[in-house]
Amino acid sequence: MPLFSNLQSDLEHRAAQGLLRRRRALESAQGARVVVVEGKSCLSFCSNDYLGLANHPRVIAAMRRGAERYGAGSGASHLVSGHFAAHEELENALAAFARKPAALLFSTGYLANFGAVQALVGRDDTIFADRLNHASLNDAMLLSRAEVKRYRHNDPAHLEQLLATASRGRKLVITDAVFSMDGDLAPLPELLALCERYDAWLLVDDAHGFGVLGREGRGALAHFNLDSPRIIYMATLGKAAGVAGAFVAAESIVIETLIQQARSYIYTTASPPALAAATLESLALLREEEGRRERLQKLIAQLHTSLSGLPWTLMPSTTPIQPLLIGENEAAVTLSEALRERGIWVPAIRPPTVPQGTARLRISLSAAHEEADVARLVEMLREMI
Ligand SMILES: *Cc1c(COP(=O)(O)O)cnc(C)c1O
Repeated sequence: MPLFSNLQSDLEHRAAQGLLRRRRALESAQGARVVVVEGKSCLSFCSNDYLGLANHPRVIAAMRRGAERYGAGSGASHLVSGHFAAHEELENALAAFARKPAALLFSTGYLANFGAVQALVGRDDTIFADRLNHASLNDAMLLSRAEVKRYRHNDPAHLEQLLATASRGRKLVITDAVFSMDGDLAPLPELLALCERYDAWLLVDDAHGFGVLGREGRGALAHFNLDSPRIIYMATLGKAAGVAGAFVAAESIVIETLIQQARSYIYTTASPPALAAATLESLALLREEEGRRERLQKLIAQLHTSLSGLPWTLMPSTTPIQPLLIGENEAAVTLSEALRERGIWVPAIRPPTVPQGTARLRISLSAAHEEADVARLVEMLREMI
């Protein structure tokens, strides 16, 4: 049947380019060591569980208590009858934590970005976006039907050129705070100054900074000591916070607009309230346990010192995302496979996810790692020179 043979040839084309992706099912909890389906334990450097909270006993206990009190599912969308006290309590805690007047929970970060962008701008408006922004932001821009102008990665001068040319309607500047494939930070103070000068909103996606950057893990805004009503702050709760979901924090009028207009908030079932209960506990943990962030910084420093002298270089990142630049696709894949044979899981990231010629091993560190784990990774990499 032609319908099927079409799909078949697309898949074969992908396979021929070495782009076919495979999933591996875990049989254990997320962590520094995971058990994959063959029953073999391996050392993992590829989760976003940066603080090691995904499997924390206090978070698990809170989820269990939440399920006992509220049940398994929410049963409806937030605007119908699926909005629970646990959601509201978490929203208040997140707003206070992000130092914003209000916050709104979404089921995922992907949906939060869709909702925020689509509620703020439409076909008569203009979006200015960093070229390396996360796919969810790029998809959200397209769906919003606003005019899109993309600026060179982390280049405020280029952004200013674009802002200075005539543009229609409301202006919205969008950036990742920590870029997911490079681990570098956006120059948020410069971006905010431009937004003030040209009267634009600034949407900051802090998926990888929340819980990791700033005092108490308050994220990228705290890291740069930034506070402005024109900043719309978005962060996810399935990475450092170790659970699931996301939130947008902003002025109350912005949040009210999202409640009324964000289609990805309105037309979807509310996430289980037990997840909100678990996330409240993980929020408390990530604030209290500064030691987890200190440990992460130590591991990052250890990786940088011990990898010097290798033929490959670490990109200049100070976050737990530590890409090791390899260059050629094949070389990156071969290296990743050789590590896997030695019981170490580090993914190879290739174009089109990253630019041509910059294939890399994306090493993610977590407070769940021991110094010995990092030492083992380095030792294995040295064996492969
Ligand atoms: C992971 C991620 C998202 C999506 O969040 P989910 O909760 O996983 O849907 C959005 N933006 C960035 C930068 C991310 O890394």
